[in-house]
Formats: sequence, structure tokens, C-alpha cells
Amino acid sequence: MIKKGTKLYSILSGTCPKCQEESMYMTKNPYLLSSTLKIHDHCSHCKTKYRLEPSFFYGSMYVSYGVGIAFAFAAFVISFLIFDAGIDIAFLSIIGTLVVFGPIIMRLSRNIWINLFMHYDKSLVKK
Ligand SMILES: [Zn+2]
Repeated sequence: MIKKGTKLYSILSGTCPKCQEESMYMTKNPYLLSSTLKIHDHCSHCKTKYRLEPSFFYGSMYVSYGVGIAFAFAAFVISFLIFDAGIDIAFLSIIGTLVVFGPIIMRLSRNIWINLFMHYDKSLVKK
């Protein structure tokens, strides 16, 4: 289990980066595609505003590129090296992985992006 108070906890759970008391997202399930990226305006616990500026989360597209490469590389290693599939099957498994894990990749990217700018603050938890 990842300890509360670390950036990894906030990134993997999608909780408020400052207090980590509640989820930033309106729905827990990332596969409800109409609300995958719907995010609360601010944290109801510590009142942290999630959008630091208009279009703040556009920057997470840069992060999403790296996260996507990581998922694609994992799919390649698993299919090509472990299951000994051909290069065409490995290519299809990469595409399949990116489609299936798309909503998770988008949320992970947003979580990483906001955690680059905000840090955990223990004093906000006690409020
Ligand atoms: Zn908070």
C-alpha cells in the first residue's frame, strides 16, 4: 500500500494533491466516457482550486505522451518478448492497449500534471 502524503498516492488515487482527502473527479469510474475528465472546481475539504489558470489541464497532454509510451512499451514487451508474438500482433496489442487504457492514461496524466504544481500540505488535513 502506498502511503498517504506521497505524490504517488495522489497520482494513483486521483485525490486532491494538497490534502489527499477526496477525489478530484466527479465520478470514480474512468470508463464513464462522458465524465472521464470532469473535475470538481475546488476541493471541498481544503478549498484548493484545481484549475490554477484557464485551460490548466491542456499541459497534461505532454505528460500523456510519456504515459502512453510507457503503456505501449509494456504492451510490446508482454506480447513480443514474453508471449513471443510476431511484430504485427505486437503492433495490434499496442493499439489495443492504448485504446483500452485510454481513460486511465488521461486521468493519470492529469494527476501527474497537477502534482507537478501542487504539494501535499499536512496542515490542511487537520481542518
Ligand atoms: Zn483538498
